[in-house]
Amino acid sequence: MIVEQLFADVILPLPLDYHFTYRVPSAFQFRIKIGARVIVQFGKRKFFSALVYKLHQNTPSGEFEMKDIDAILDDDPIIGENQLKIWEWIANYYCCTLGEVYKAALPTGLKLESQTKISLNPDAIITDDLTDKETAVVLLLESRKTASIQDLNQFLGQQSSFAILKLLLEKNAVIVEEQMRESYKPKLVSMVRLNPEYDSEEKLNAMLDLLSRKAKKQEQLLKVFLAETLFGNLKLTEIAKKDLLQIADASDAALKGLDEKQVLEVFQKEIGRIARTHDADLLIKELSEPQQIAHDEILAQFETQQTVLLNGVTSSGKTEIYIRLIEEQLKQGKQVLYLVPEIGLTTQIITRLKTAFGDQAGIYHSKFNDAERVEIWFNVLNEKSGKTGQQYQVILGARSAIFLPFKNLGLIIVDEEHENSYKQFDPAPRYNARDMAILMGNVHGAKVLLGSATPSYETYFNARSNKYGLVNLTERFQGIEMPELFPANTQEAYKRKQMRSVFTPELYNEIASALHNKEQVILFQNRRGFAPFVQCGKCGWIPKCRYCDVSMTYHKNRSSLICHYCGHTTSLVVKCKECGSDEIKTRGFGTEKIEDEIKLLFPEARVARMDLDTTRAKNAYEQLIWQFETGKVDILVGTQMVTKGLDFDHVRVVGVLNADNLLNYPDFRSYERSYQLIMQVSGRAGRKNNRGKVIVQTTQPNHPVIQDVISNDYYKLFSRQMAERKMFRYPPYYRLIKIVVKHQNKERLDLAAMNLATAFRNIFNKNVLGPEYPVVARIQMWFQKEILIKLPRDGKIQEAKTKIMEIINRTKTQPNNSQLIIYADVDPM
Ligand code: ADP
Ligand code: ZN
Ligand code: ZN
Repeated sequence: MIVEQLFADVILPLPLDYHFTYRVPSAFQFRIKIGARVIVQFGKRKFFSALVYKLHQNTPSGEFEMKDIDAILDDDPIIGENQLKIWEWIANYYCCTLGEVYKAALPTGLKLESQTKISLNPDAIITDDLTDKETAVVLLLESRKTASIQDLNQFLGQQSSFAILKLLLEKNAVIVEEQMRESYKPKLVSMVRLNPEYDSEEKLNAMLDLLSRKAKKQEQLLKVFLAETLFGNLKLTEIAKKDLLQIADASDAALKGLDEKQVLEVFQKEIGRIARTHDADLLIKELSEPQQIAHDEILAQFETQQTVLLNGVTSSGKTEIYIRLIEEQLKQGKQVLYLVPEIGLTTQIITRLKTAFGDQAGIYHSKFNDAERVEIWFNVLNEKSGKTGQQYQVILGARSAIFLPFKNLGLIIVDEEHENSYKQFDPAPRYNARDMAILMGNVHGAKVLLGSATPSYETYFNARSNKYGLVNLTERFQGIEMPELFPANTQEAYKRKQMRSVFTPELYNEIASALHNKEQVILFQNRRGFAPFVQCGKCGWIPKCRYCDVSMTYHKNRSSLICHYCGHTTSLVVKCKECGSDEIKTRGFGTEKIEDEIKLLFPEARVARMDLDTTRAKNAYEQLIWQFETGKVDILVGTQMVTKGLDFDHVRVVGVLNADNLLNYPDFRSYERSYQLIMQVSGRAGRKNNRGKVIVQTTQPNHPVIQDVISNDYYKLFSRQMAERKMFRYPPYYRLIKIVVKHQNKERLDLAAMNLATAFRNIFNKNVLGPEYPVVARIQMWFQKEILIKLPRDGKIQEAKTKIMEIINRTKTQPNNSQLIIYADVDPM
């Protein structure tokens, strides 16, 4: 049989604009498959794991030396046709290359390059099923900790060691460098609860009586236990052992005594799974009536709509509706993807999903170690063929989970769909996972449910115009009332000298009364640090970052000035660099200052702060939430982090310290965002029989956005904004493409940006804005300018993008422009 020469077009994990063609040696002809990885040489000595994109018999034209494929890594494809379709779509739509999509899509362990560093897996159990060569590699790694694939090639005296590496990875003997070793292990704490036998006060009293005669210390401990739990303010059913012993100042022996008498029980529990009431342990909860109606309505709309928006107020129980929908999909043998924003992926939601679905739920998150990500990848891919037993049928993940190789997807849930962490800013592909979820719905024939209390205007617009279905859920679970909102005029209060530090009398009094009633408070300020800047009181000089065009933020507890864009840190200046005066003053305030001030004004209150600075350490975020949930903290001060889907039972007061910051941000979305943020943080307030209160501090209490927030009128603001956006040609009426240009030399940048803008204006005329400096004009030595192009939704968008990319590529290749960075950001946020 004469077999014609077969060629393979492959995608390399490089930001190159085209794919490359290699010859398929006849030995591989029947083994090579689209969507599988192969090893190819690229450049003089570099090898890559490339992905087979197309197989064909068309001899490529042009004069170049064609190479053979070196090896086949996968006998079976690691991505399916659907994924390739999605990759192509992303590359086209977001103006990037397939190589960039490949890099973003696969976990590190599946993207091997010559420079990839490998080391021994510290958790490995090396068995004797290694071949001689594999053993040699293991010995090498034992002696020198890490080695690159190039090193292995040399060591083994062969051209490519990818195949060996692949086997070693599969045997879990080695790991790839970028793999972090952190993995999701539920954090267990020892908890104490009452034996259910003691379900009446009589029995308890009898026991206390008995103890008071025989075991004073145990009696004391039991009393403290009861005061802290069942008879306490929060009506908890259990308490951490450590806390109990500390509060009661008791010994382990006393607790042991009560445990032996079977009065108290000590048990292990995952953090984040603190039961509040006796019946909280139901795995799948009964839906309330309004929830059931919303659920049925969603299913009804799915009959005719592929995408449905669930617009449910905060604490309406959207999660429980999702869980019910997931359960139904699993019963039909379908896979479900449950997307949450980066910050929303907390122990709370993970635990909720694990409780409901056990081992059928997998978590896919960039924070977890890469080996786990690879494992989930294959688990999802090999659905049904099931060699490892348990299949993950529902995947909970942040945005990169859209790349998983689903085969049988029935439903995609996008929770908090308005969140901008669904958008990837850097590097390319600059995709929005919410929009990709809708595309995936199309490609897989799956349904998509978008959920939010404050939908993005794009989504709400689509729902109002019947492109999506719309289901409203206007009631909070158990009919808890929405909180009342009040503006507090900071300008007036300053004038009348009524401000206490950064607090208006209104907010101060609410905090005082909440503390008095043993209720909790959340204070929100969208700035971390102590003061956003410091300034000379004599001449007005402000210290700025050496590398960025932005003022340095004062961090008091580290007594330093820190640049929030590049992290550059200096010690606090005590003398003005301009006039030598030592009158250096702090201006404005961040979370750190609020925390300080609270400690001065309310010394008895227990305060915690939640921002980037306090949550860097592993588990710190979970710890803070847990402390707040269990009433160990009275006041939580924080940035945006406190506005995200956390649900707390005992918060009565929420303070927004400075709404002006939000309103005055120079962006066409700033009103939409202000409304979202204030509503989301307000959503943390309110308890049964005790309506929550939200105080919004601002100098503009009559600002229309503040008024709409106060009257909880999402639609009013939406429709006003829609009118403006239509007039000024912004989304959702127009599409935006932002062209970002960077150079270390300001003159070069100015010239290049101006030329680019002129070229764009020749095509798009008035729909081109800029070039302009963004809010921060220089970051880490790079000057930056932006050009905004507004494109009508007339179906010619792809054509327009092609023209834009042509201009960009032409500019890049001009002489003098080699140091210039230009990229397009489609649908910027
Ligand atoms: P949302 O996501 O709409 O803000 P959540 O799903 O977080 O609201 O629900 C708010 C709180 O109410 C959670 O503590 C949740 O466990 C509880 N809850 C909601 N629905 C139910 C239900 N049907 N049964 C029991 N508890 C529920
Ligand atoms: Zn000065
Ligand atoms: Zn900087």
